[in-house]
Amino acid sequence: MKNDKKLHVVIAGGGTAGWMTAASLSRMMNHHVRVTLVESDDIGTIGVGEATIPTMQTFHHLLQIDEQEYLKETQGTFKLGIQFENWGKPGDKYIHSFGETGKDSWAGEFQHFWRRGLDEGVDAPFGDYSPELQAALAGKFAITNKPRLGFAYHIDATLYAKYLRKLSEEKGATRLEGKICNVNIDPGNGHIQSLALESGELVEGDLFIDCTGFNGLLIEKALHTGYQDWTNLFLCDRAVAVQTQAVADPIPYTRAIAHKYGWQWRIPLQHRVGNGLVYSSKYMSEDEARELLLDNIEGERINEPRVIKFKPGRRLKVWNKNCVAIGLASGFIEPLESTSIHLISSSIIRLMRMLPLTGIKEVDVDEFNRQAIEELESVRDFVALHYKVTQRDDSEFWQYCKNMKVPESLRSRVAMYSDSARLYWGADELFTVNSWNQVMLGQGIMPETYHPIADIMSSEDLKEYLEKYRSSLQDFITKLPSHKDFIAQYCSAS
Ligand SMILES: Cc1cc2nc3c(=O)[nH]c(=O)nc-3n(C[C@H](O)[C@H](O)[C@H](O)COP(=O)(O)OP(=O)(O)OC[C@H]3O[C@@H](n4cnc5c(N)ncnc54)[C@H](O)[C@@H]3O)c2cc1C
Repeated sequence: MKNDKKLHVVIAGGGTAGWMTAASLSRMMNHHVRVTLVESDDIGTIGVGEATIPTMQTFHHLLQIDEQEYLKETQGTFKLGIQFENWGKPGDKYIHSFGETGKDSWAGEFQHFWRRGLDEGVDAPFGDYSPELQAALAGKFAITNKPRLGFAYHIDATLYAKYLRKLSEEKGATRLEGKICNVNIDPGNGHIQSLALESGELVEGDLFIDCTGFNGLLIEKALHTGYQDWTNLFLCDRAVAVQTQAVADPIPYTRAIAHKYGWQWRIPLQHRVGNGLVYSSKYMSEDEARELLLDNIEGERINEPRVIKFKPGRRLKVWNKNCVAIGLASGFIEPLESTSIHLISSSIIRLMRMLPLTGIKEVDVDEFNRQAIEELESVRDFVALHYKVTQRDDSEFWQYCKNMKVPESLRSRVAMYSDSARLYWGADELFTVNSWNQVMLGQGIMPETYHPIADIMSSEDLKEYLEKYRSSLQDFITKLPSHKDFIAQYCSAS
């Protein structure tokens, strides 16, 4: 910084996005930044968003968050992947697990060797070579080194925000409770000058972070940034959510169960289960959705079912003037692959890298927006894959999905894989080759052939290699403790 004045960052909103931002800036940029967060108890938070992906470990590592403490505070459990049920066609099931499947070699990715194995009569499914998938099926978990299990968490969203609030306030972040009733704009440059609270208080700042959720109070209502609608790819625009008492030990994966007009999630925590039905309002009424959800939950209800409306898409810019939108205020795809909290953490990291300590520069703003949009669009493609590649045609909803026009980036990936199992992992893309492999196979694509590099091994060597891999993996799984026992000794909240 050129002078001693700290940048005053004002965060509007205290949900997961607001408190993740506050905790990051106050713990990591304390020397340069003063943080004020405004939230309204009356408006509250969205209260869902409880399944994560492995990048959360990195984020917490950066913030020096103690994993055991955090899991105890949030009633957390471990997640090895997502089980998709009824997606390819009713009755189908597959797991998209974290980590890697098999071993890539210098010569080629594992799926080519596996695909050749099928031709040679080794008919073990791809998932038989995934440690995370096998552990998930066995209900087992441990933090291991060899192989290192890739994992994420299931957490109670409300407790997580509370925990981050404590970490932020410890480092000097100021919390103001109150409803923002006006956003004052500088008529000269169009920047936000201050937030007016109902109490009459004015909160001035240098940089404003819009974490007001779907409200988009700063980025949209005040700055009129604009929104790119993705409802042509994602028909679902509603969710109804309810929490239930746990009736069984928590499983180490999320469940995503497709139905005629959308899908249902089940997220197991230590003390309860989070349930929700995601659906298209074009095909289902709120009452029908509520009824379908309540017919498909286990355990006593803890709260009343709550309907949440959303519009899939993204802001045209996530950084506009002196305002950066993070979390639901920046856009929303849909929760199928649990990507929103990850997108919050990556926006925060991007912001910290480009923090305008010497003034807001157009080049930084443009680069920030470019990176954010590229990231969102790659996630969009991956989530759309689940809808596009289906054999379901039992409702208008699925018929539309199956026939919808998808971005060229997705169409070409599916074509390359269907032909000869070729995949690539683009720079800065979130989902790796393993994820594309698992979801494409799981949804019913079988590559016609493999890359000829897999012919480098003799038939006998290939069979022996694949068999040995599977049997040593099973030895590893046998020795793992159950998920329940691991939680009990590592991070039990009770
Ligand atoms: C159905 C559904 C399921 C989801 N599941 C997952 C999941 O499994 N995994 C995942 O990663 N993500 C998931 N998400 C996304 C996840 O919920 C959000 O990314 C996350 O909770 C962050 O929300 P937020 O903080 O942006 O918004 P919110 O939680 O809505 O917080 C908004 C904040 O702004 C405040 N506010 C708003 N207006 C005002 C005002 N006028 N004055 C003062 N304060 C105001 C509110 O009080 C609140 O504090 C899901 C989303 C939905 C809709």
